[in-house]
Amino acid sequence: MSRSFDVVVIGAGPAGYIAAIRAAQHGMSVACIDEWKNRDGKYAFGGTCLNAGCIPSKALLESSELYHRAQHDFKKHGISTGDVKMDIATMQKRRASIVRQLTGGIGGLFKAAKVEGLVGHGKLLAGKQVEFTPIDGKAEILSAKHVVLASGSAPIELGIAPFDGEHIIDSWDALELEAVPQRLGVVGAGVIGLELGSVWARLGAKVTVLEAMDDFLFMADRDVAKVAAKEFKAQGLDIHLGAKVAKAEVKGKVVSVTYADKDGDQTIEFDKLIVAVGRRPVTTGLFAEDAGIQLDERGFVVVDEECRTRVKGVYAVGDCVRGPMLAHKGSEEGVMVADLMAGEVAEMNYDVIPSVLYTSPEIAWAGKTEAEVKASGRAYKTGSFPFTASGRAKAMEQTAGMVKIISSQDDDEILGVHIVGPMAGELISEAVLALEFSASTEDLQRTIHAHPSLAEAVHEAALAVDNRALNFPNR
Ligand SMILES: Cc1cc2nc3c(=O)[nH]c(=O)nc-3n(C[C@H](O)[C@H](O)[C@H](O)COP(=O)(O)OP(=O)(O)OC[C@H]3O[C@@H](n4cnc5c(N)ncnc54)[C@H](O)[C@@H]3O)c2cc1C
Repeated sequence: MSRSFDVVVIGAGPAGYIAAIRAAQHGMSVACIDEWKNRDGKYAFGGTCLNAGCIPSKALLESSELYHRAQHDFKKHGISTGDVKMDIATMQKRRASIVRQLTGGIGGLFKAAKVEGLVGHGKLLAGKQVEFTPIDGKAEILSAKHVVLASGSAPIELGIAPFDGEHIIDSWDALELEAVPQRLGVVGAGVIGLELGSVWARLGAKVTVLEAMDDFLFMADRDVAKVAAKEFKAQGLDIHLGAKVAKAEVKGKVVSVTYADKDGDQTIEFDKLIVAVGRRPVTTGLFAEDAGIQLDERGFVVVDEECRTRVKGVYAVGDCVRGPMLAHKGSEEGVMVADLMAGEVAEMNYDVIPSVLYTSPEIAWAGKTEAEVKASGRAYKTGSFPFTASGRAKAMEQTAGMVKIISSQDDDEILGVHIVGPMAGELISEAVLALEFSASTEDLQRTIHAHPSLAEAVHEAALAVDNRALNFPNR
């Protein structure tokens, strides 16, 4: 006899495990299946985010940033350290330990919420049945009232630069390097490429980033991208825009990369090459042909605004469906579908999803860029405030960057907030809340911000929209 659950979730990344816990909170019986295997041979919940994405990358960003600051900033504070050394093995041990604690924590959360965590492969069959094949075990059929597909994504591999796990590597390999490569190439100046490039550059690698697009950070506001480009250049990241990679070949211990830019064909050699040109949805073996699931032309599971697939009672969330490939987007979709399954009204505001790059300085935004507002034809005003005028940023010795706010000319509604500077990823939450509540810049202007705090820069940028900044000359 097959076991039956109210909900079976396939995938325990941030989209799937959150959907499972929320569904259990509604009193439903839930199973969550995952087959993620780490490099140490151990199976773990948490998906890409916890095992090979958000968390390990932030652990390394923090270590490398501290190393960099110890070398370059401490003396400004009067701290002498002597010769600062970096032990990569210890740094990687710390990264692995953080990952272990957090992925192990999901097991604890499942237990507390009474979610049955199942290790193995899940496959949706027709009639909302799920074939669960445990690791080293016999397949069993689970039946469910609702199924959630949360199978995530994987790095895109280029035919002209195939991964070999040694010299031409993906983002996961790049997080687990055991030594600093002397010459590191990165194909793709997106979020992942820039974060990984920053880590290894701070640790001493000579990093060259090859980006096919002519615009740096094309998805960000231009003012923010300009500041970021200047800062990254000053940090030694050599970013080549309009550089179209034609071929990458491993010759002995070296990767030879040929690319074309405005000056013609170029060849450059690296010790390691990270290919970070985006991610693709994972759907292989996820559903039977007669399960009724449809994929779009890019391989994403087709869903509506509420993450419903074409099959009644089957939902799909996270990186395997349209929308930005971000952990918090997937998690909120997980919450939404669990609430819908419980018969509640729930929706996602896809217009207000924060984007963050955890580089130094950090970059974060929510809402529309100035170019997008301009293109929409809506009359608008802008205000910005530089961190050079922030007392807290000065005390932190981190004054690069600014906050920029765009609001509607007619009713002052905030349309976009763009930050490049210290803790931008934390500061953006105030903007997200403001956008979620359709706040005006006057609402932010009249909100008391603690002094001295970085958040005062958000307050001052809101004031600057009406030429009322108090700690910086207005236009
Ligand atoms: C280097 C890097 C850094 C990143 N940094 C950030 C960041 O700072 N912030 C952010 O928001 N996002 C970040 N991301 C993106 C983030 O990791 C993803 O958006 C997020 O993990 C997507 O969550 P998900 O649950 O949809 O999929 P995943 O996390 O990919 O999880 C899917 C899970 O499903 C399992 N699975 C798939 N198919 C099956 C099956 N048939 N049976 C059983 N199990 C299956 C997989 O094993 C996996 O565990 C980063 C990504 C990378 C690579």
